[in-house]
Amino acid sequence: MSEIKNIYCVGRNYVAHAKELNNEVPNSPFLFSKPTHAFVEANGQEISLPGNRGSIHYETELVIWIGRKHEKGMKADEVIKRMGIGIDFTLRDVQNELKKKGYPWLLAKGFPHSAVVSKFIEFPGINEIKEKDFILIKNGEKVQQEDSKNMIFDLQTIVDFTSIHFGLDEGDIIFTGTPEGVGQVLDGDHLSLKWDNKIVGDCFIRLT
Ligand code: ZN
Repeated sequence: MSEIKNIYCVGRNYVAHAKELNNEVPNSPFLFSKPTHAFVEANGQEISLPGNRGSIHYETELVIWIGRKHEKGMKADEVIKRMGIGIDFTLRDVQNELKKKGYPWLLAKGFPHSAVVSKFIEFPGINEIKEKDFILIKNGEKVQQEDSKNMIFDLQTIVDFTSIHFGLDEGDIIFTGTPEGVGQVLDGDHLSLKWDNKIVGDCFIRLT
């Protein structure tokens, strides 16, 4: 796995999730980013997360890995080389306070290990991934399941928007938004990430 450069995340990209948190559905992509220290691959290990800053929520998301510099007019299929299933961990109580103050989300979204991703697999293409679901299993129970075709902003729109505003090059990854069903993780929880009915990564939560 090559080095991870920029970590971009799309917020509010599925209607049902925007509604479950009482947010408006956006009319253009809404992005934030995480430091590279946030990144960790889920390969069955314990992952430590902050245990003293209020509730931590999982947000399960399709993650794309960019394999070459994006230039204007390029198709998303030309630049997305790999994909994984990730968890955008969020300090939800902290985020709610930040939202009230109109502050950036970094404190709630950017802590170490807040960007967990399964092993990356070859990206089969935008059309090929439709009709396949990504799933989060928590302690043996399915808690999130979604198909990327239900995104408000599709992968082409996300790639174009990110490239224009921030630049997009090899090693950048994009978390493309969570569907509904977000919830809290507790110490000792076991999380498994599934794609196309296969487990592609898992980890145990350690709150410290
Ligand atoms: Zn998210």
